[in-house]
Amino acid sequence: MSFPYDAPVSQTLFDRASLVTPGGVNSPVRAFRAVGGTPRFMVSGRGPYLTDADGREYVDLVCSWGPMILGHSHPEVIAAVQEAVARGTSFGTPGEGEVALAEEIVARIEPVEQVRLVSSGTEATMSAIRLARGFTGRAKVVKFAGCYHGHVDALLAAAGSGVATFGLPDTPGVTGAQAGDTIVLPYNDLDAVREAFAAHPGEIACVITEASPGNMGVVPPLDGFNAGLKELCSANGALYISDEVMTGFRTSKAGWYGVDGVRPDLMTFGKVMGGGFPAAAFGGRADVMAHLAPAGPVYQAGTLSGNPIATSAGLAQLRLLDDAAYAKVNAVSAEIRALVGEALTKEGVAHTVQAASNMFSVFFTDRPVRNYDEAKQQEAFRFTAFFHSMLSQGVYLPPSAFESWFVSTAHDTQAVERIAAALPAAARAASEATA
Ligand code: PLP
Repeated sequence: MSFPYDAPVSQTLFDRASLVTPGGVNSPVRAFRAVGGTPRFMVSGRGPYLTDADGREYVDLVCSWGPMILGHSHPEVIAAVQEAVARGTSFGTPGEGEVALAEEIVARIEPVEQVRLVSSGTEATMSAIRLARGFTGRAKVVKFAGCYHGHVDALLAAAGSGVATFGLPDTPGVTGAQAGDTIVLPYNDLDAVREAFAAHPGEIACVITEASPGNMGVVPPLDGFNAGLKELCSANGALYISDEVMTGFRTSKAGWYGVDGVRPDLMTFGKVMGGGFPAAAFGGRADVMAHLAPAGPVYQAGTLSGNPIATSAGLAQLRLLDDAAYAKVNAVSAEIRALVGEALTKEGVAHTVQAASNMFSVFFTDRPVRNYDEAKQQEAFRFTAFFHSMLSQGVYLPPSAFESWFVSTAHDTQAVERIAAALPAAARAASEATA
């Protein structure tokens, strides 16, 4: 596929970036490798829009990969940040903002009795796994193929489908020893989990799962899957860790827990809770959290943990996220999903739109997607054509067929109309695409 050379300033910036940064980006998916072309360098964001370095405006359906649920530059979040930054940027001491943010999380999510703030989702899942191992005195971790929990060594282990696979590092740099205690299972397959517990009695510290996966595209848990995981963990003395870095404070006031009510032992958070700043957290049962230093022996720390600017932004954002805000995001998500479905149907493009509350993605297959293997069976080349058509018409989608799309309270009628206007040509491009 060839791409119109319509982003000369972004191209120049990308050329400069590529000289000093591997692949020209600081996080791989930003590089457009899955779809080709030049990544757009953004200079500003307002409401549902982003503006790139070439002065082009886009309706943003990435929302910084989830965090910007109120849209960009929300005046109350910006005001909170400005107020905080005027008082100093980091103290390396406890501060009231951290307490207030922790209280807000504990108040919203009932299974979280205590919480520790960190700076990224990766840190949150890494620390939760360490704590689970320290608490149970066991080594093995169960994760699911297609679930992403950050770039934690042990959690980058993934495997082929079908059966439990042991210790196959998925990236150079992760040693067999680091991955050797990770058991990777197919998603939505409780029998596989049952078999893993039977094969490793007394060895599994925890099962970690995305509360509702969004990192292989949106693949919600089948009815009873999360409850079954919890039950199997409880029956076998393992902890159930629900990774809500993506779903937390996005899919409802209490995240995915607010949707399915399955009570995890530990939970991880990030994205929305930082209001666009680096703030994340893990928390859960008080008796488990009591094992964390300095209360207990499991070490975990961070120079910038609970940073005052990040906590102010996060707190301001969470306080604005009431029932009405979620109703609005859910409604606009449903509206966009319907428009995408209609446009693709009209052009005869096989597709399945899957949603988890207001998170959704479009799979280019007519079959439901329940796990990573099924996600990979879609015609991803059609997404590439669809993506570039939308981009050239001013709609910014995640640059991969295996990601969730995100909307915000700021996505108003005008933004939806712009999306609607772009869809017919994009659907046609998808229908005409060849592998
Ligand atoms: N867990 C989930 C479910 C995620 O979606 C992500 C990031 O996308 C992470 C963990 C890692 O978070 P971070 O990128 O902040 O390290």
